[in-house]
Order: sequence, then structure tokens, then C-alpha cells
Amino acid sequence: MSAGEGAAAVAGRYETVIGLEVHVELATKSKMFCGCPTDFGAPPNTQVCPVCLALPGALPVPNEQAITYALRASLSLECRIDPGCRWDRKNYHYPDLPKGYQITQYARPLAREGCLRFTAADGQERSVRIRRLHMEEDTGKSTHEGMPGGTTGVDLNRAGVPLIEIVSEPDLRSPEDARLYLQALRTLLLYTGVSDVRMEEGSLRCDANVSLRPEGSEEFGALVEVKNMNSFRSVQRALEYEAARQAAALDAGERIVRETRHWDERRGITFSSRSKEEAHDYRYFPEPDLGPSALSEGFIEAVRAGLPELPAARLARYAALGLTPYDAGVLVADPPLADYFDRMLAAGAAPREGVALLTVELLGRLNAAGVAISDPRCRVRPEQLADLQRLVGAGTISGKVAKTVLEEMLASGEDAQTVVARQGLQQISDTGAIAKAVAEAVAAHPQSAADYRAGKRQALGFLVGQVMKATRGKANPSLVNQLLEDALREG
Ligand SMILES: [Zn+2]
Repeated sequence: MSAGEGAAAVAGRYETVIGLEVHVELATKSKMFCGCPTDFGAPPNTQVCPVCLALPGALPVPNEQAITYALRASLSLECRIDPGCRWDRKNYHYPDLPKGYQITQYARPLAREGCLRFTAADGQERSVRIRRLHMEEDTGKSTHEGMPGGTTGVDLNRAGVPLIEIVSEPDLRSPEDARLYLQALRTLLLYTGVSDVRMEEGSLRCDANVSLRPEGSEEFGALVEVKNMNSFRSVQRALEYEAARQAAALDAGERIVRETRHWDERRGITFSSRSKEEAHDYRYFPEPDLGPSALSEGFIEAVRAGLPELPAARLARYAALGLTPYDAGVLVADPPLADYFDRMLAAGAAPREGVALLTVELLGRLNAAGVAISDPRCRVRPEQLADLQRLVGAGTISGKVAKTVLEEMLASGEDAQTVVARQGLQQISDTGAIAKAVAEAVAAHPQSAADYRAGKRQALGFLVGQVMKATRGKANPSLVNQLLEDALREG
């Protein structure tokens, strides 16, 4: 059964209940409790010190930048902050965890009771409650690559990198909504600047809890945890598969077992896995080397005041300018694109016409050339694109000619005005000049003129085309229409 067929099997009979646990690597220069760098891709075990190697006597010191970032994320998710949050030890033994425990927050997380609003698959605004957001340190990585047969290598560069874990309540009701929530969370974190949130590089990782219950039932079914989903698309696919698998089992009268399952991207299935966590009692206890935090009201408020305009506020601002929800969504999901648009607005572009010029004309050409909007190879600055839009708005050039001008601007880096003046592309709104072209077109095509007079309206379109051709597309189209109708009526 494919994931798509699965969704159909679930629909109407079972309700899918999903909660997500998301780990995000913070974009600090140094680790959570030591000064080691956090750069991605360095040779194994070159970014380590006595603290993150867990050598005897080494003591952790919390990274203030990491706490600031975690706080930014918490506040942007509208969470309640615990100023006296605490560190705990989570005990388990694994080769990539040199201390034999991970420093995390268990009983007193940094933040609780937040929410994230996003646009669901049905186009409706939905709110998912955030149960908690806590800070912790990352583990190292085990690898088999390039190791002699049967042995495992351990790279501790990642050990101690600061993470936040964001746990949602089980408020999601479809795999597609789970993907949309995750994308909205990524956009929000991108705005706050706390992480580069790249799922492919592992700086955003997502585990999901999924269960089914009969439509209309209030009780939750047995939870299955799904791991190893490495892209937004695979989150949706894995959850669709898993919901369908559970529906088939329930239909066959089986009980769902509470377990952890891994997503296999290539085969498109989840499979049961006895993970290291399962049979474990973590024996959490307060970290004796670190006291409770004492975040002052002033510090928290300073971080709150430093938050930029967040996606929801930006969406609302664009809606008030008259942009469609689709256009506003395209801009907001891509911060550099939205920044570009804001600079166009500041330079006097009309919002609705400006967004079309930006997302359809400019972006279409950049995408075809494989150039990003923030790339210096994009030679059209926002202020220049705003000028181009204003030339169209003022009737100096037609919308059709604007496309030609834009191509020239992209190639040469010149201003719209320069291109228009040099190539003589100003729209002809001079009645005399157009009337002359109209008279010539009517004289050259007497049959079309006769057809129009006999009631064939489509003959007018042909004659308009002839006039536009004669004026190299520069004639003001509404003037052409008007003068042609006048000429034909008189003739
Ligand atoms: Zn270190």
C-alpha cells in the first residue's frame, strides 16, 4: 500500500493524532558549555576540549548566547518563560555520549505553554499548542564510513553543540498539516535568526508521535514514535504510511503496540526498531555542576524587544496592503524575498503590481538562471524594480514593454529609465501618432474594417494587433482601441 492510498484508507473512519518533537541546533559560534567552535563539516574530533570530552575535573559553563537564542525562540512561540529554569542530567550510555549523561532540562524547562499558528492544508488558520521548549546539548556522531571492517568511529565535534527541543501538544490531525506546521516553525526560527534550520544538514530534526482513534472518539490510541525523517516531504510520507499501517492493523482486529519505528526513505515504509532509548530509565536528577538559572525580568524583556517582525505580523501587513494570501505567503516564507519587496515598497512601488513584477517576472527569470534573489549576480536592485513598476503605473511604458526592459536591466544592470530612453520604448500616448497608425491599418485591411462594420467584433482585435505591430508594441492599448472604434464608426 502506498502512502497516498493509505490516506484514503484512514479518511472518514479514523482520526489521525500527531504531535511533533523538534530538535533545533542553535547558530552559536561556540558550544553549550565550553568554548569549542561549532562549524559544520570539520575533520573528526578537531573541535573538542576537556569539557566536551568529559575529562575528569572539567566543569561546564553555560553559553549566554545560546540562552539568548533559546529565549528568542521561546518568546516568538508565545511561551511562558521560567526564569528559574534548571539543568538536569539524563543518564544513558552510548559511545557518542562521552560523559555517560546528557545535560538537558527536565523538570524545569526554559519555556512552556506557547503556540504556533499556521495555515493548514484546508486553507484555514490553525493553532498548535507548544507544550514545552527546553535547552540541551547535542551528542557526538557514530560512523561506520571509512572504518576498518566491523568497527565504529566516533566524532565528538557535535558533542556539546547547543540544541533546543520544541515539543508540541498532539494537536495536529493530518500528515500534511504536520508538514505545514514544521515548515511554519522553520520559517519562524529563520526570522528569529537562532538557527540556519537546515533539515538536510541536521540542524532541524523532527520525531513524530502518531496514533489513531475512531472518528468521534475522545480517547487517544497507543502512541507510536516515528524517527529518521530527513526532509519535510519525508515527514508527510512517513506519517501517511504510518497512519495507514495502523488503520489496517485496527481493521484486522489487532492491537497497536506502543513502540519506536524508523522511516525507511528508500522503501517508503516504517519498521519497528529497538532503539537505545526504549528499555531505558534515564534517572534524571539536577545537574550538580550547574545551579538554577536566574533570568532577570530586564534580560527577558530586552530579548523580547529585540525580536524582529515575525511571519504572522508580516502576513497581516501584506494582507492590509491588498496582496492575495497566496502572494503574501510566497513572500513571507522567503525572508530575503520579503525584504526585497519591503525595499520596493519603501521606494514607492505599488504593492499589488510590484509583487507581480517581483515574483512572476524577476523571480521567474532568476530561477531559470539558477540565481537567488540575494545573490549579487541579480543585477536589479529593489529600488530599480520599483522604478520600473512606477513607469508602468504612470503609463510611460506598457506592461508588455516592461518585460523587455527588465531583461535589459538584468543583463546590463542599468536603470529602467536609462533602458527606456536609449531604446525609445516610451509608450505612445500621443493621439496624433496613433491616429495615423490607425488610419493606415484600416486602409491596408479594408476587409477587416468591413467585417467589423458588419458586426464581427473579433475583426477589431486583428486591427488592434496591426496597429501595435506598426508601433512596435509601444502604442497605449486603450487609446488604440478607442481611436480604432472611432475611425470605423466614421468610415
Ligand atoms: Zn569543548
